[in-house]
Amino acid sequence: MPDWFGMTLAEAKTWATSLGLPAFRGEQLWRGLWRPTTTKVADIPGLPKDLGARLDAAGELLPAVLEQEQESRDGTVKSLLKLPDGKLVECVGIPTAERHTVCISTQVGCAVGCTFCASGQNGVERDLTAGEIVYQVLYHHHRRPVTNVVFMGSGEPLFNYDHVIKAIRVLAEPEGLGLGRRRFTVSTSGVPKRIRQLGIDEPQVTLAFSLHAADDETRSKIVPLNKRWPLEEVLQAMDDYANVVNRRMTLEYVCLSEANMTDFHAGGLASIARRFHAHINLIPFNPVTETHHKRPSPDQVNRFGALVEEMGGHITIRGQRGADIDAACGQLRKRVLENR
Ligand code: SF4
Repeated sequence: MPDWFGMTLAEAKTWATSLGLPAFRGEQLWRGLWRPTTTKVADIPGLPKDLGARLDAAGELLPAVLEQEQESRDGTVKSLLKLPDGKLVECVGIPTAERHTVCISTQVGCAVGCTFCASGQNGVERDLTAGEIVYQVLYHHHRRPVTNVVFMGSGEPLFNYDHVIKAIRVLAEPEGLGLGRRRFTVSTSGVPKRIRQLGIDEPQVTLAFSLHAADDETRSKIVPLNKRWPLEEVLQAMDDYANVVNRRMTLEYVCLSEANMTDFHAGGLASIARRFHAHINLIPFNPVTETHHKRPSPDQVNRFGALVEEMGGHITIRGQRGADIDAACGQLRKRVLENR
């Protein structure tokens, strides 16, 4: 089966003509993908019955089905989706009064291995297809229209670059969900070549750099990828990116009580934020059972944030959405896998 949900409208038409069908059959099928009631090709109105039956016989239309779901008292919905090969990925819908943001995964597992993250503890299993990425957004869109998409679930998006770019293009299709490029945030732990490439390919998309420490010694202990691409190498790629992109970038900083919250760390963080005029998201660590990291107290986070601001950084302390469910990245998937 083609990767239906990873196709642009033009590609769907080309697919149809390649089978000797009129191009409008491809368009009919493609438009049907966005309907909440579509679970198989035969559900799509207007298509000849024999075509629907033939395509449905060839394989599943939907690239994922719901395995398990948790809903927080604050409305945050964490969904565990099962892919055709049985692999599991998480995506999270985060509603507020004005927005519905969906946080999606780009890989099964993650190769980066950040020490505070459940998703990276067993390495990466495979990349998601563009359709598997798109479908996570669509799944939550059917509950409430999605306004923003953040690539911050499991996986390093820039290690699955082509499929991530493709997914953005499909989701931005005006005839589909029509999400503006500025509604997307791609988060990376620092892949220099791809940061430069993103600035050229998709300059309207927001880049979020998962910094977590502003010196190599501390950062290499938290984000092992830092040993492959030390900080200054990534920062130079971000300089190049900033030269071609007119968008404010974001620095993500997980606050780990014992690891990255001294005055020295605050100074380094503020300095990098000033260099890029970047906004800082401080994220109080959400405990994952197997890590040695400790959650900071609210006072510790506030003090650290105030210090960074005094030194010229602009911060937001990220609220604890979904605190009453397995909220940290990868937790739900991990628990389900352990109980299998
Ligand atoms: S925080 Fe992100 S980059 Fe780091 S291991 Fe987890 S999923 Fe991978």
